[in-house]
Amino acid sequence: MKGYGMISVDNVGWIEKDKPVLTGGDAILRPIAVAPCTSDTHTSHGGAGPKENLILGHEAIGEVVEVADDVKHFKPGDIVVVPCVTPDWSAKALQDGYYNEAHDVGLMQGFKFLNSKDGVFAEFFHVNNADSNLVLKPENVSIEQALMTVDMMSTGFCGAEMADVKYGDTVVVFGIGPVGLMAVAGAALRGAGEIIAIGTRPDCIALAKEYGATKILSYKEGDLADQVRAIYPEGVDCTIIAGGTTENINQSLRMVKANGTISNINYFDVSEDISFPAALWGLGMADIKIVGGFCRGGAKRIERMLNIIAAKRLDPGKLLNYKYEGFDKIEEAFKVMDENPEI
Ligand SMILES: [Zn+2]
Repeated sequence: MKGYGMISVDNVGWIEKDKPVLTGGDAILRPIAVAPCTSDTHTSHGGAGPKENLILGHEAIGEVVEVADDVKHFKPGDIVVVPCVTPDWSAKALQDGYYNEAHDVGLMQGFKFLNSKDGVFAEFFHVNNADSNLVLKPENVSIEQALMTVDMMSTGFCGAEMADVKYGDTVVVFGIGPVGLMAVAGAALRGAGEIIAIGTRPDCIALAKEYGATKILSYKEGDLADQVRAIYPEGVDCTIIAGGTTENINQSLRMVKANGTISNINYFDVSEDISFPAALWGLGMADIKIVGGFCRGGAKRIERMLNIIAAKRLDPGKLLNYKYEGFDKIEEAFKVMDENPEI
């Protein structure tokens, strides 16, 4: 079968591979709609270290082609939403609630596409634990909306959850690409007060406001922490980092109050270091939490996202601004994402 992926670092193209093999509890799907993500382009440039001959893509709506005999809830022909994180639901780590880190060996093994197996930019792709990881696409949610739940909405919301946004909190969101926009929306749905979004692109600013941002700041207007402290001398309750470099952790430390939270959902580069002066972290005594994570996996999580859309509380379909028809167009879409990572 044909797939699009990284032949080696900085070298993407079409790859010929064997069709994935069905194993117990699992399903084979063909993609109906896919979305390239900066995680795909970042990985293709070696952001997670060297990888070879790997089909990329981890955001998909698919049609079930084949299921193992023990799969109860799905059959060939079903149109399903595929979470980008598909944990092994037998992993012991899940019993402690580590959905993304659902593994007994290795880091981030719940995130299998891009990481430990071929992704969804293929004529066929494999999904483990189909009954626990797949969701039937609801009639009243469009393909475009559903596609935006599997990573963008789920990861953006994860940022707001890890930040523990409470009613009336003042929240800063770094970056208003699609994940940052969904972090804004997640913070708004959790009842934040002021939501300060940081970004510069006019179309993204308009969407940020629509999704709940109450103020917009730009790094072009000077030091961000100084700008935030000028408005909130006492600091803000939490920050959500959905873009930029590790410098945003230092910036966040200069913005948050004692007892505040810094929630990172940005995929830093393997070459980056994280360091900050101890004084910024209250000498380790200020109860400032720094947490980093990624969207939680599995069917139930995505069902919750779909319920929010079906109830018309949020339309993540507005995140889409390019649409291509045809499997071969993956190449063009990938290149657009690679060259314009903020779209
Ligand atoms: Zn993604």
